[in-house]
Amino acid sequence: MSAISGKDYINRIDQLQTEIWLDGQRIEGKISEHPAFKGIIQTKASLYDLQKNPQFQDEMTYDSPESANPIGLSYLQPRTKEDILKRRKMMEIWARHTHGLLGRSPDYMNSALMAFASSRGFLKDKKHCFPENIEALYKRARENDLSFTHTFVNPQVNRSQYYFENSKEPIAAKMVGQNEKGIIIKGARLLATQGGLTDEVLVFSNGGVTDEEHAFAFSIPSDTPGVKFICRESFVNGESLFNYPLSSRYEEMDTMVVFDHVLVPWDRIFYYNNVDAAIEFVPQSSFQSFAYHQVITRQVVKTGFILGIAELLVDTINVSGYQHIQEKLSEIIIGLETMKALLEKSEEEAKIDEWGIMRPSIIPLQVASNIYPRIYPRFVEIIQLIGASGMVSLPSEKDFASTIKEDLGLYLQAANRDAEDRVKIFRLAWDLTMSPFGTRQTQYERYFFGDPIRLSSYLYHSYPKEKYMKQVVEFLNLNP
Ligand SMILES: Cc1cc2nc3c(=O)[nH]c(=O)nc-3n(C[C@H](O)[C@H](O)[C@H](O)COP(=O)(O)OP(=O)(O)OC[C@H]3O[C@@H](n4cnc5c(N)ncnc54)[C@H](O)[C@@H]3O)c2cc1C
Repeated sequence: MSAISGKDYINRIDQLQTEIWLDGQRIEGKISEHPAFKGIIQTKASLYDLQKNPQFQDEMTYDSPESANPIGLSYLQPRTKEDILKRRKMMEIWARHTHGLLGRSPDYMNSALMAFASSRGFLKDKKHCFPENIEALYKRARENDLSFTHTFVNPQVNRSQYYFENSKEPIAAKMVGQNEKGIIIKGARLLATQGGLTDEVLVFSNGGVTDEEHAFAFSIPSDTPGVKFICRESFVNGESLFNYPLSSRYEEMDTMVVFDHVLVPWDRIFYYNNVDAAIEFVPQSSFQSFAYHQVITRQVVKTGFILGIAELLVDTINVSGYQHIQEKLSEIIIGLETMKALLEKSEEEAKIDEWGIMRPSIIPLQVASNIYPRIYPRFVEIIQLIGASGMVSLPSEKDFASTIKEDLGLYLQAANRDAEDRVKIFRLAWDLTMSPFGTRQTQYERYFFGDPIRLSSYLYHSYPKEKYMKQVVEFLNLNP
C-alpha cells in the first residue's frame, strides 16, 4: 500500500459499519453522503488528494522503509532537524489548504501515533504492557494510511478533587472483564472529534487515573461491535458556500464515545491494569512534542488567515485611519509573530531523545500552547469589534438572486467593494466568530488539548526556574 487518495479514504469510511447517532437516529447508508458529514469528508478527501498531487507529492510523502512505496510524511519518525523541517512543511501545506480550521487534519493523529510508537521503549518489560502492539499498529497505519480519532478524557460528571465514581454501572469507560480473546470495556469517554469518521479510535487513560480498571490504552476499528459515537447537534446550516463559507466545509463534529461491553483483542492493547503506565507513558513519550508541533504549525496558519480577514474588513469599510483599529490589528500581528517565533525556536532547539528520535523542544511549544487559548478569543472579539453591525447585516445568497437585489446593491455597498463582495467578506467573518461553527472553534482552541489552567500549572512545574532563583539568592547574599 501507499499514501491514499481522497477516494480511497471515502470508500474505506463508507464501508465501515460504524454506529453513529445523530439527533435521535442511527445513521444509515453512506456516511459520506449524509448532509452533516458530506462537507468535512470531502474536505478530508481533498487533503489526502494532495499526497497524490504531483505539485505536492514530494513534500507530502516519503519512501516506506518496508515497501519503498510513497507513504504519508506525517508518519515519518524524524532523526534529524531536517526531518523536523520536512514535517513542518508537510503540516503547513495541509493547514493552508484548510486555513488552519481543521483541528483534526490527518497529520494530528498520525503524528501522535508516530510519537507513541517512537517512545514504545518506555513500556518494555513492564507489567501488562505490549509495546510491540503499538509498533505493529504504527506500521499498519503508516503503510495503509489509516485515519484515527482519539478519546482520552472521562465524562464530565463530577470534577471535584475528592470524587471517586461509585455508581453501579460504570460511567467512565473501565475494564469490566477479560477472557482468552482480550479485555472487555464498558462505560463512556467524554469526546472524540471526528468520531465515526475515521478508520480507528485510539483510547488512552487520562493522567489522573488511580485504579487498575481505568488504566489502559488501545486502538480498535471504529466499527468494533459495542462502540457507539453519539454526535452533538450538527453545525452545518446549509451547503451554500456564500452563506456558510466555513461550516459547509470544515464542520468536524464532536461525539461522545460509548463502549458497551466492547471486546478489545489482546493484540490491540498497549497496556492494561497498570496505573504507572497510564500516568507516565503519555507525558514521558514524545506525544506532546509532536502533537504540539502540529498544533502550533496549524495555529500559525490560522492566525494568518484571521489577520487576512481582519484587514479585509478594515479595508472594506475603510477604517484603517483610526488608531484603535491599528492597535487591534497589531495585536493579531504580535500573536502571529510570537507563535511563529516559538515554533521556530522549538525546531532550532530540537534534540535527539533517548530513543533516537529528533524531538522539537517542548518548552517553546508549551508556551505557545498556553498563549493561544488566551489570544484566540481576543482575535474573535477584535473581528466582532471591527465588523460591528456588519456582522449581523448578512443577507443570503437567495436574497442576492431575488428582486431586492437592487436595494441590497445600493445600501450594502462598501467604500471599495460592491454589496455582494462585502456581504461575502462579512459572512466569512461571522462564520469564523459568531455562527455555531465559529463559537465552537473558540471553544476548541481553548480546550481541545486540555484545560488551559492545568496546562499552565504543568508548565510552571516543568519549567527550570532554579537558576533564576539562584541569581536573586546570590544578589542578596542569602544562605543558599
Ligand atoms: C471542541 C472540543 C473538541 C475536543 N476534542 C477532543 C477529542 O477529540 N479527544 C479528546 O480526548 N478530548 C477532546 N476534547 C476534550 C478536552 O480534552 C477537554 O475539554 C479538556 O481536557 C478539559 O476537560 P473538560 O472539558 O472535562 O473540562 P473540566 O475538566 O470538566 O473543567 C471544567 C472547569 O472546571 C475547572 N477544573 C476542573 N478540574 C480542575 C482541576 N483539577 N484543577 C483546576 N481546575 C479544574 C476547569 O479549569 C474548567 O474551568 C475536546 C474538547 C472540546 C471543547
